[in-house]
Order: sequence, then structure tokens, then C-alpha cells
Amino acid sequence: MMGHMLKYSFLLISALFLAACSSTQPSYKYVNTAKPSSKTPGRVNNTPAPRPTRSSSKKPILKPNYPVYEVRKGDTLSSISRRSGLTVAQIQRYNNLKSTRLEIDQRLYLPGVYKLSKAKVNPPPMSYPVSKNISVIPRSRWAKYKVKGNVTPMGKVTKITIHHTDDGPKLSKMSDVKFLQGMESHHRNNRKWACIGYHYIIGRDGTIYEGRPAAYQGAHARSNNQNNIGISLIGDFNKAYPAKSQLTSLTALLSNLRSKHKISAKSVVGHRHLNQTECPGKYLASWINSYRASR
Ligand SMILES: [Zn+2]
Repeated sequence: MMGHMLKYSFLLISALFLAACSSTQPSYKYVNTAKPSSKTPGRVNNTPAPRPTRSSSKKPILKPNYPVYEVRKGDTLSSISRRSGLTVAQIQRYNNLKSTRLEIDQRLYLPGVYKLSKAKVNPPPMSYPVSKNISVIPRSRWAKYKVKGNVTPMGKVTKITIHHTDDGPKLSKMSDVKFLQGMESHHRNNRKWACIGYHYIIGRDGTIYEGRPAAYQGAHARSNNQNNIGISLIGDFNKAYPAKSQLTSLTALLSNLRSKHKISAKSVVGHRHLNQTECPGKYLASWINSYRASR
């Protein structure tokens, strides 16, 4: 009975944390699409892009099984940028666009964006008080386990990557500390990592927790973990902005880390800049774009 219950709760925990932020998206190939599809324009759809053709048309590069937006009348690159949380430059880069001109029915690959918001994704005000003094709850105060030996020392930090935990529905009934402990169990036991993959986690009340000690390379952005500090905010920021207290803590933590490692605001990226993922959600991605542009 006990064994059964244990197994059951293990499965539950696994299911909950498997949903957590990851970059485990299917692999893909670049293809050239021949024609726009007959799907309703102006809607993001998840249907696979057409099979690769041999035609050497100059159509944008699309990727199959990934969110594709079909341009409709009145759309501009900047309106799509505001509604998707991606920058104009990102949309141009992902779609191999040399100019800002768009054609109706043109298909745009918008990584991590499964639905364009109706209204502009307004970034929240950026005038948060910036303090380099932060208080961080050490992992000894929340973690149940020591860090295992399979770690790589962190090299010179050149980048900071922001994530969301993309919590399951059960998070509402759980404290942040319980959530962290569950996530660490999942990272240790299922993924066989040394400990939780992120270096810092910002709770729903703005508390900053130490995750993986910063002396070690993290496990948060596939193939991009070298020299890269990972910060994750608890929540799903495809639905709404993080709480003001979370953004205040994030701003202070970024100031502190940037000053310590002498890196610019441009070195702060969202996970979706690096891997095929929706993380950290369009609202937080939009905040990051403003942060990078304003400093
Ligand atoms: Zn992520």
C-alpha cells in the first residue's frame, strides 16, 4: 500500500515537473516553403509547414511543426512584434527577412508564440528602484539534498538567461519552497542532474532563492549552459506579467550580477532567444526586450 502510494505521488510529482520549463522540443530542419497555405490568414496555426520542395524560391525560411503566423491586411513587423513579444530583429532573423516589408498571406515563423495577443503586449514600467544589494535565501535553507558530484565548474560568465517555471495547475496549492523541492527532486532523480538546473529562482512574492551554486555550470538552456547564469521566475508568463515584486527582485538581481560579472544589458536574454521553447512566456519575453533596450 505504502509502496503504491509512494509510486503514485512520485508519478504525480514527475508529471507536474515534466511540464516545467525545458527546451525539449522536437528537432527540425529548415525548409523552403513554396506557397502560402489556404488556412485563414491572420491566425497562428500549429499545422506542419508544407514538405520541403526543391524550388529555390526566395520565400522565408520556415520550420515544420512550429508556430507559423500568416500575415493579414494591416499587419506590420512592428505590430507583430508588439503582439508576440518578439523583437522586430528577431522576427527578421528567424524568417530571413532583409527588409520590413510584409505581404498578405506571407508566413512568418514566430518561435514560442502559439497565439498572438489581440492587444499590444505592453511592457510594465521600467522605473523600478535598482539596488545592487540583494538578499538571497541560500540553498541550505530550503534544499533537502547536497549537490551531487557531476558538476562542471562555471567559466567566466558572459550571459544571463531568464526562464519561467511554467508551473502546473497544482502550484496554486503549493508553497514556493515545496515547489522548489519538487523541482529539484525531478532534476536530480529523473534527469540525473547534480541538483536543480537554475542558479536563482524568484518566488511569487519576490523572494530570491539560491538554486545551483553559481560556481557550477547550470542546466537550463540546452547546448547553451557554458558561461551562462540561469534565473527562473515561478509562474507561467504566457498568461500575464510576473508580479511587481518578482520584477523588482529580478531587476535588482540582474544589476547585481551584471556589475559583478561586468556584462551589459544585451547579455541578458530570454530562454527563447537560445532554444526552441516558449519560455519565459510572451509577457516576460516582452519585459526582457524592454530591459535590453533601455539600459
Ligand atoms: Zn526556460
